[in-house]
Amino acid sequence: MSSESAASSLSITTTPSDHPASPERLAEILADPGFGLHFTDHMLVAEWTPDAGWHDVRVEAYGPLTLDPAAAVLHYAQEVFEGMKAYRHADGSVHTFRPDQNAERMVRSCRRLALPELPVPDFVEAVDALVRTDERWVPDASEGEKSLYLRPFMFASEAFLGVRPAQHVTFMVIASPAGAYFKGGVKPVSIWLTEEYTRAGRGGMGAAKTGGNYASSLVAQQEAMAHGCDQVVFLDASEGRYVEELGGMNLYFVHRDGRIVTPATGTILEGITRDSIITLAEKSGHPVEERRFSIEEWKDGVASGEITEVFACGTAAVVTPVGELRWEGGSLPSPVAGEGPDASVGAALRQQLVDVQFGRAADEHGWLHRVV
Ligand SMILES: *Cc1c(COP(=O)(O)O)cnc(C)c1O
Repeated sequence: MSSESAASSLSITTTPSDHPASPERLAEILADPGFGLHFTDHMLVAEWTPDAGWHDVRVEAYGPLTLDPAAAVLHYAQEVFEGMKAYRHADGSVHTFRPDQNAERMVRSCRRLALPELPVPDFVEAVDALVRTDERWVPDASEGEKSLYLRPFMFASEAFLGVRPAQHVTFMVIASPAGAYFKGGVKPVSIWLTEEYTRAGRGGMGAAKTGGNYASSLVAQQEAMAHGCDQVVFLDASEGRYVEELGGMNLYFVHRDGRIVTPATGTILEGITRDSIITLAEKSGHPVEERRFSIEEWKDGVASGEITEVFACGTAAVVTPVGELRWEGGSLPSPVAGEGPDASVGAALRQQLVDVQFGRAADEHGWLHRVV
């Protein structure tokens, strides 16, 4: 993998926290971590200026930032982020999953947001440095599917209210132990089809992983919840016809003949889970079509029985079955899947994926990156 052949040129200093969580407190947190609630003892911070490039890279005690109120990110949302996980295997080793893909996606997001690029090997090394420092926060392999969620992010920290790309940028990595993303386990999520709001238009930021896309999705998510649904699905901005994705997860439509269709529009965020699922599906004999997929095709397919399953995927929740679809004045029931233990294609692919991530199945594609 490119990430492992090229060396990082970062020099990282580490200052251990003088108030790490006690073993008792850590055990208490890891017993029931929830999602995004608790943070590890340390964080990684790096600064960028046009003259010095990336510098002052350090692992230090986790804590609040001192940010000038004029910091550009607070006003103009010049920000990108990533989401990935570290998994502990039964032999105690710790691995991340395709970190070079997160690094490359952050480079693409940075280009769109006019932020400086962090080279792929430096991104991987920065994440590794934090995981190594906070290794005791990576939950045990025996603990179901718990992992350490990693959140690299970059933002405009320059204090300046003029509108232009910031001349002082900060990159950080924080980490948070994660249990099940959806409380109550893997049960189908109900989906609200928003016909009022869109997520991204042509030439916009849809393909970049940036907070602005999430900010604009919140009111639609509120609308979904007001209608008793768990998640919202967006259609394309120009015709209001083609299915894009959920607020933070990509979608798959399983057909009666085993084919799987997943939307490709140029305005969705192409997930690393999405790409991994495509590879695993094709290997399991499910041809995958990446193409535009209209909302009529969804409604008609479920109504006729041509679509037997819909599922969504992303790093945080892995694979989640999609149940009922509702919209203003109408609804569509859950697709009717076949019978038997192997009936759910999504559940089978989910199992294959987590087995690789947790070291229980052979890593045939070189997806794992050993950190500890
Ligand atoms: C991060 C993200 C996804 C999922 O990507 P993964 O790499 O699979 O975690 C899907 N949609 C949006 C909008 C996202 O931000």
